[in-house]
This record gives sequence, structure tokens and C-alpha cells, in this order.
Amino acid sequence: MKLTIVGSGYVGLVAGACLADAGNDVTCVDVSEEKIALLKSGGVPIYEPGLAALIERNAAKRRIRFTTDLGAAMADSELVFIAVGTPEDEDGSADLSHVLTVARQIAELAIEPKLVVTKSTVPVGTADRIRAELSAGSELPHRVASNPEFLKEGAAIADFQKPDRIIIGCDEPASREQLERLYAPFNRRERRVVAMSVRAAELTKYAANAMLATRISFMNELANLCDELGADIADVRYGMGSDKRIGPHFLFPGCGYGGSCFPKDVKALTHTARAAGRPLRVVEAVEEANAEQRRVLARRAVEHFGDDLSGRRFALWGLAFKANTDDMREAPSRYTIAELVRRGATVVAHDPVAIPTAKRIGMEGVTFSESMYEALAGCDALLICTDWNDYRSPDLDRLAAGLRGDLILDGRNLLDPERCAEAGLRYRGIGRGQGTPV
Ligand code: NAD
Repeated sequence: MKLTIVGSGYVGLVAGACLADAGNDVTCVDVSEEKIALLKSGGVPIYEPGLAALIERNAAKRRIRFTTDLGAAMADSELVFIAVGTPEDEDGSADLSHVLTVARQIAELAIEPKLVVTKSTVPVGTADRIRAELSAGSELPHRVASNPEFLKEGAAIADFQKPDRIIIGCDEPASREQLERLYAPFNRRERRVVAMSVRAAELTKYAANAMLATRISFMNELANLCDELGADIADVRYGMGSDKRIGPHFLFPGCGYGGSCFPKDVKALTHTARAAGRPLRVVEAVEEANAEQRRVLARRAVEHFGDDLSGRRFALWGLAFKANTDDMREAPSRYTIAELVRRGATVVAHDPVAIPTAKRIGMEGVTFSESMYEALAGCDALLICTDWNDYRSPDLDRLAAGLRGDLILDGRNLLDPERCAEAGLRYRGIGRGQGTPV
């Protein structure tokens, strides 16, 4: 099939590369001249394992190309996917300006009827707004469907190629048939398509993210309780996760959830629910708990060193919001660093891939180290913010020798408290039942 994908970010590029790899003819569009120029020259603007090779392979076979010219891209495409950003608006709702701009441009530039498919995460009712833009700007009988994306950054290619489910929200059988045909190669072993109305599809994406965020905040609060009560959250997690009704996934406590999806999607869902007169009180509490949790490491640094951190120097391992990505949107590291710097401290940060992202963001009071051990020099404590594999089994003797102080605040529970103690380090994780080491 001939496809256009509008928005060449994490979702657009992964979807484009995977759909091209399944034999489709894909054109990826973006407004960013810089991004498109980089893609045309063989570069990839984001870090996502396996993506560069997949793009390269399909570009060589001329199955994927890149342009800023939406009209030309759409010329002979059957389907047009919208995969642009839907950031948080000032009131917490989803900002649909990019999505609706694309809808207006499609209306203006398409010379044949298209099936317009929303891949961006959008609130219930957005398809109606897209339809209204299309019919205001064009006489052509365009159709609209919803196909929310569930990929996880860091494992995005595998998630797209072997999805748990493919949600197809359509109000006409013809659209459903077209999308089922497109996704047939990803559906061969098991039937993954779940077809439903457009409104149900739009809500399903938010429901899934809100449930995942709920599991995280639940475990974070329980972990904080474990610290007070002297129980280890790891034991509690095994004990509860082995119940088949609960399951072991997504029960790891930490220094808060971040990223480009959970924070804004939780807020947008609570906004939708309030506007509909049915507040989701559980989900509102999830957001509140997370706002506190993402400051947990800075709070513990203050508990240990006092309110005034001037003259203190902290090493921070992990800038990305999670492992295997360079994405720092809403990353707990950013909240941690901002709080430490606000209190007068300086921070030396390491990350295997996200340092260029951090430099682009322009963070005050931070210097960067390409070596996780060199980052420790002259530091009073080490804070771990991201669950990169690199940080799971460090040389603890080297770590102890590198730090000026002896404190580790582990926001991902990667290290073994006993082994840290053997190396002469004071360790505090999240919910390991240790209270505050002083
Ligand atoms: P992103 O910011 O990485 O990419 C969006 C791209 O759209 C940018 O390159 C931007 O330049 C481009 N763009 C904006 N306006 C445009 C326009 N008018 N025409 C063409 N291009 C335009 O965003 P993302 O992370 O890929 O997310 C996209 C959507 O998918 C969001 O709604 C997000 O919630 C959803 N989503 C994201 C993920 C994820 O893990 N990142 C997973 C599932 C769903």
C-alpha cells in the first residue's frame, strides 16, 4: 500500500520504518526542514535501538522516503497517518493544534479522497474535529479512523512488529477493511486486531496509559511505606505479583514516571473526565503521587545534607526518562537536577545516549561526563535516575574510590544494598526498608 505518515518523531519514524519493512511504500513527512534533511542524508534524529538499520535497509530498497512537502507525499497515497505531537496544553488538556493543522493541510492539498488515520494520542471527539476540518476545507469524501499507537520507546521496533494488540477504531466497514489489510503481516500468528468505534479507540489509549501509571504510583507509594515500616518492597512485589490476577509486570517502584506519554496522557484524561462531569479520582491521585515521587531523590539529598546544598556536588547517572532512549521529556532527572541546583548544588551527569538531548535542552548548573566513573570525582553522593544496563553492576570499589562522599541514592533499585555496604558505601534505594541513613 502507499502510505503517508505525517510527523517523523518517535512514533512516525518507527511506524514508517516498520510499515515499509512489511513491503509498503511509505513517505514520512515533517515540518522540520532540519529533521528531514538529516533523514535524507542517512541520519536518524532520535536514538531508538534498531531504527537506523531498519530505515537504512528500506531506504536502499526505495520503500521509505522523507519530505517536507505534504501535498507531493500524499499524491498517490491511500492512507494518511497523523503522528504529530499532542503536548500538554496550559490547562492540562491535550493540545490538538498540530493535529488539526495537519487535517486542514490534508483538506487543502489532497486531490483524491483519503483515509485519514490518527496515530497520535488524542482525546475522545478528536476524530469529529478532524472530520469537521476536512469537510470545511474540501468537497472530497475523506474518511477518518483511529489507530492509537502502543509502542514503548527503547523497544519500539519489536512492539510495532509484534504488538500485543492493534486497535482499529472505525465507523465505516471500508476503513476497517483497509486497516486490517495493512496490518495483516503483523497478525499472522495470532489475531491482534481489536476493532471498535472511533470513540472507544481514542479512549482505549488513555485507559491503558492511565492504568500503567496507576501501577507505578501505587508501587511508589507502597515503597515509601515500606521505608517507614522496615519491609523490602522487592519481597512485597514478588509476593503480590505472583497472583495471576495482578501479574509481575510494571510493578517496579522508582523516582517517578516521566516521558512523553504518561504525564501528559494522565493529565489529559483527568481533564476529559472532569469536562464530562465524571472525574476519575483514582487517576487524579496517581498524578499527585507522581508529582511528589519525581522529587524523591532531591528530597533525600536534603534529608542527608540539609536544606542548603551550596558547595555540594552530586554525580547523577541517567538523564533519559528510561533506559534505551535519548528522550528526556518529563524525565525524573530533570526534576532532580532542578531541585539540587535551586538549592545551590552542582551536578555532574552521565548518560549513555542522552547527553546531546540534555545539551539541547540547556540545563543550568550541570556539567556532563562521558564516563560514568569520571562523573564521580569530587562528588558528595551518587544519584541514579535511569535503569540503564550500564548501571546495574558497577565496580563498587571503583565507585567508592571515585566519590568524595559515600552516599548512593538509587532511584531505580539497581544496586544491592549489602554489596554497597561491603564496599563502604551508604545506600538508600526506594522502599528497601532502610529508613534514612545518616
Ligand atoms: P515527537 O515530538 O517525537 O514527533 C512529532 C513530530 O511531528 C515532530 O518531528 C514535529 O516536527 C512533527 N510535526 C509537528 N507538526 C507537524 C505538521 N504540521 N506537519 C508535519 N509534521 C509536524 O512525538 P512522538 O513521541 O512521536 O509522539 C507523537 C504522538 O504519538 C503523540 O500524540 C504521542 O502522545 C503519541 N505516542 C507517543 C509514543 C512515544 O513513546 N513517543 C507512544 C505512543 C503514542
